[in-house]
Amino acid sequence: MPKKNLFGYTLPELTAEFTALGETKFRSKQLFSWIYKKHVYDFDAMTDISKAFREKLKAEYSLALPTIFTKQVATDGTIKALLVLEDGSKVESVLMRYNFGNAICVSSEVGCNMGCAFCASGLLRRDRKLSAAEMMGELLCMNKILESEGASVTHIDVMGTGEPFDNYEEVIRFVKTANDDNGLGIGARKITVSTCGLVDGIRAYGKEGIQINLAVSLHASNDHIRNQIMPISKAYPMDELFAAIKDYQENSGRRVTLEYIMLSGLNDTIECANELADLIHDNNISALVNLIPYNEVKEKPFKRSSKEAVSAFYDRLKKRAIEVTVRKEFGTDIDAACGQLRAKVVAGE
Ligand code: SF4
Repeated sequence: MPKKNLFGYTLPELTAEFTALGETKFRSKQLFSWIYKKHVYDFDAMTDISKAFREKLKAEYSLALPTIFTKQVATDGTIKALLVLEDGSKVESVLMRYNFGNAICVSSEVGCNMGCAFCASGLLRRDRKLSAAEMMGELLCMNKILESEGASVTHIDVMGTGEPFDNYEEVIRFVKTANDDNGLGIGARKITVSTCGLVDGIRAYGKEGIQINLAVSLHASNDHIRNQIMPISKAYPMDELFAAIKDYQENSGRRVTLEYIMLSGLNDTIECANELADLIHDNNISALVNLIPYNEVKEKPFKRSSKEAVSAFYDRLKKRAIEVTVRKEFGTDIDAACGQLRAKVVAGE
């Protein structure tokens, strides 16, 4: 029997498991405190846990973390790490520096099957989904890197390689432990899960009763353009997507972020800006539009929009009373596009 990785448990799940083994219900809290507060990953060092139970933990459970295969550090401090999981799979995690903290972009799958036409992560099809323990491992590896600065991850975006709602249960397990005060204690509003538009996932997420943010990768102002760049759009056209976002908002009371990658000549015209404003107003949703300057990928035909086009698009949305931001750019002197480093390394193997 393979050992069970303890980083994959929420606190209630671990409490249930340990009490079934005859331990008190405080045992799980003690273990959470050792791993998430004291950063101790050696069972023998957990001195307030009985020796007999430590032996049981050693025999049946693990605290395995990924190892770092390679790491790139950009001049702006962005860190891109390619991590190796226990089965040898490689995943990419990125750390971005903001003036408000350190945000990690977490991958949720090894490769991705969603096929977005502009995306480097999707160059490699999905091998498998990541477990909650592996996603937590990405974060704890980044914390280890940050240790020398006396810093740690303060914000989480589940926005790296993979579609989080295609791996719903494990992603929710991971974000719950990251948010739990007995776990990493990262505030719900500092955690964002981003979907390319799986409507069932959006609806379920709205009913989780957690205040964690939702971002939807929209990237187009109509089905015609979205169909050209996001295959998911054929399964869930705009009207279905917006109906799901509306349901999510009714259940959660939370604003949604609409991600919008600016692609030159395709989705960056003033007509598109007006159409996007109409979509938001007509569907009566509370949204922040995040305009994303595109990181060009050599295997892909798309070009980044000019600064003037981004600025005109931004101005038009503002004029139409839409909340809008332009995403800060990170790591422009390393493999900046999401999934680019992994694609390069795997292709060279
Ligand atoms: S953008 Fe996200 S969902 Fe689309 S292919 Fe890339 S990783 Fe997958």
